[in-house]
Amino acid sequence: MTATELKTNEKEINEEIAVAVKRLEEAAPEEVLLWALSRFGEKVTLATGFGAEGCVLVHLVANIDPNARIFYLDTDLLFPETYALRDRLETRYGVRIERRASSLSLEEQASEYGEKLWETKPDQCCNLRKIRPLIKTLSGFDAWITAIRRDQSPSRANAGVVEWDAKFGLVKINPLARWSSKEVWKFIVQNDVPYNPLHNEGYPSIGCRPCTTLVQIGEDPRAGRWRGKVKTECGLHQ
Ligand code: SF4
Repeated sequence: MTATELKTNEKEINEEIAVAVKRLEEAAPEEVLLWALSRFGEKVTLATGFGAEGCVLVHLVANIDPNARIFYLDTDLLFPETYALRDRLETRYGVRIERRASSLSLEEQASEYGEKLWETKPDQCCNLRKIRPLIKTLSGFDAWITAIRRDQSPSRANAGVVEWDAKFGLVKINPLARWSSKEVWKFIVQNDVPYNPLHNEGYPSIGCRPCTTLVQIGEDPRAGRWRGKVKTECGLHQ
């Protein structure tokens, strides 16, 4: 079934999703991924932002099929540690993590929309550097796998293990939806999964350099993202 057919057969796909949810809601992430990869094949892709959860998913997906499609959104503003982690994951698991990015360089963005757009209009910056490349990427797929967990934020609390993503028009699979942060870190330690060293330095949630700050003990783990702004999400999972 192609992406277009999926969109025109939304009723049908919703019925299939309901069956999958019934079967997979309590399933281990491996089982959810096995279903996703066998159901959608080359038409499913894993999106990773290289958070702890994303690293777990790269490990699990690579164990099933090292040739599975995986991508990340390169805003050109990621931490050097994040780019180094991408390379470590590729080497360790023999996977290819495809780079997807805006066609607009940072210089072009500054001259067209103003300097430091992330400070003046962060929603527009995220739209240009994340959402637009994401829409373009997802248009080639029928389903995407994400690393979101329900307890990360109120807007993620109702995330299904499998759901219809009305915003981007394809199936969304969240194998770690039911997991806690503790379960993620237990898995990382037990399986020696590579992770971003910035997590050990007070950055529980890591995004772009200009929009990520240190989190103090007792603060919400995502408090360091867009600190001082109303913004709490980049728009990928809203
Ligand atoms: Fe721009 Fe910040 Fe969004 Fe990155 S997180 S795309 S720097 S606004």
